[in-house]
Amino acid sequence: MRSPDTLTPSDIVASGLCIGCGGCAAKGMAWDRYGQRKPSKATLDHYRHAGPVPASSPRQTHQPENARQPGCRDKLGVTKGSSGSQTTPKFPDEGRGSVSTGPMLNAGPRGGTSETFATTCPFSPTARNEDQLAATRFPAARHHDPRLGRYEANYVGHAHQPPFRERGSSGGMVSWVAADLLASGRIDGVAHVIPSTGDRLFHYRISRTPDQILEGARSRYYPVDLAEVLHEIRTTPGRYAIVGIPCFIKAVSLLREQDPVLNERITHLLGLFCGHMKSAQFVDSFAWQLGVDRNEVRAVEYRRKDPDRPANWYTAHLDLNDGTARWQDWFHLADGDWGAGFFQNSACDACDDVVAECADVSFGDAWVEPYSSDGRGTNVVIVRSPEIAARIATAIEDGQLDLKGVDADFIANTQAAGFRQRRDGLAYRLTWQKRRITPIKRVAPRADGHPSRRRAIYRTRAAIARWSHRMAWAANRLNWPPLYTRWARASLYIYQALAYKRGRLGRWLAKLDGVEG
Ligand SMILES: Cc1cc2nc3c(=O)[nH]c(=O)nc-3n(C[C@H](O)[C@H](O)[C@H](O)COP(=O)(O)OP(=O)(O)OC[C@H]3O[C@@H](n4cnc5c(N)ncnc54)[C@H](O)[C@@H]3O)c2cc1C
Ligand code: SF4
Ligand code: SF4
Repeated sequence: MRSPDTLTPSDIVASGLCIGCGGCAAKGMAWDRYGQRKPSKATLDHYRHAGPVPASSPRQTHQPENARQPGCRDKLGVTKGSSGSQTTPKFPDEGRGSVSTGPMLNAGPRGGTSETFATTCPFSPTARNEDQLAATRFPAARHHDPRLGRYEANYVGHAHQPPFRERGSSGGMVSWVAADLLASGRIDGVAHVIPSTGDRLFHYRISRTPDQILEGARSRYYPVDLAEVLHEIRTTPGRYAIVGIPCFIKAVSLLREQDPVLNERITHLLGLFCGHMKSAQFVDSFAWQLGVDRNEVRAVEYRRKDPDRPANWYTAHLDLNDGTARWQDWFHLADGDWGAGFFQNSACDACDDVVAECADVSFGDAWVEPYSSDGRGTNVVIVRSPEIAARIATAIEDGQLDLKGVDADFIANTQAAGFRQRRDGLAYRLTWQKRRITPIKRVAPRADGHPSRRRAIYRTRAAIARWSHRMAWAANRLNWPPLYTRWARASLYIYQALAYKRGRLGRWLAKLDGVEG
């Protein structure tokens, strides 16, 4: 019989902590009603019948400093206390008619049990954290910064060798490094995200040629999961790199520690900086606001590049089945302010890794002037693996890369909003966001010390994230898009009044603050 002291994917999903990485997808992943990837019902059932594993105390929310050292796993709050949950999540497999339960996808050496799950889910309270994983992977790193983790060197710049920068969302560095690893024979394939058709607009694929790598260039703010590529890596010998957002890189790092086959075959991890993940309903919203039927959307580009306009003026671009296209700048969209958190996955509210601290090398956008005004796109890069550090240094000398060294503060400043939300904001959210399973983070809960306007911003952002899923779902069900778009515009008005003192409400709030509006 199953012990009450067990942690299963059902617990993580019911707690709003599932980012949909697919690491546990013993029997496939599926869409939930809000357009997010979640373990399929068959996967949830599979774990329900698997063996017990101790879960963490629900009261502990913070990993103390001394628990962050390698080899301290027994200090991570593993207790005999009950996780308090065996609830089935409310809406698995519902909604989009696209359930993708497959064969046994991810069966590792122990066959996808609760025991392995608790140590491999990136949001499991008993899994190793980013500090511990990075300490094991990069024990001799030359530098450490509390925001960036361990690293060898940091850069700002772009790939000089064509066509990487033109084809990339930013400076093309992700595709350049992936292609270079392949060309030099250090890997046989790269798992990354490409456009697709059918029930998904994007999915992970293993690319094995430079042309295939370029087919995947550009950022996709769309739910994807690793289930199929992990299965392919397990069944097809070779050496692989994986491109992923920080929580996916953490998931793969945890899986590698448990699974010798993955450990041997996944040789490189390329991380993307991350603000948050959107749901597939974001595309529905694009379609509504551009006046087209969602079913007519064949492909979406989230960030169409224009070298003549600032890089941070994002343009959403839809290709339609009839061969025509529609596009709009994000700042004209009701939900186009990234900071407002529309369609954000609820797990992102419990995330403290902005820059993929477990990756061999991480990439982001240089969101500071003069780079953010350069429409050709500019990366910031954090290099952690000595092997990649040496290769990048050589490529700079050869003129393949146009990069210059920068310090940790420079990199952190490019992601100032992300760090605020994931450190200061997380400390505050941990005091009032109650979940069935309480996540254990590297940030201590703290209710005091946040100015009242900032507290209001964090709360408004969380409310927008939560309600955007529900409002868009209701608009879809009623086939009445204005239900969502009107609500979104009103929410944006309040958010921007708080965040930027914009509009009449913003000026009034500024006066209340005693600050000039
Ligand atoms: C959800 C998300 C949030 C992000 N948030 C931030 C942020 O807050 N700040 C910041 O500076 N940068 C952020 N990025 C990263 C940024 O958008 C660029 O991807 C990064 O700067 C690399 O640009 P590039 O030109 O070097 O990459 P490119 O050469 O364009 O290559 C991008 C690579 O990433 C892969 N990829 C695209 N989408 C995904 C995905 N969802 N999951 C896994 N792999 C993917 C592609 O297949 C391709 O291989 C985010 C990316 C994503 C996907
Ligand atoms: S391993 Fe990934 S897909 Fe599975 S419950 Fe955890 S976050 Fe969700
Ligand atoms: S914010 Fe964190 S949890 Fe959310 S998608 Fe990004 S890395 Fe994953």
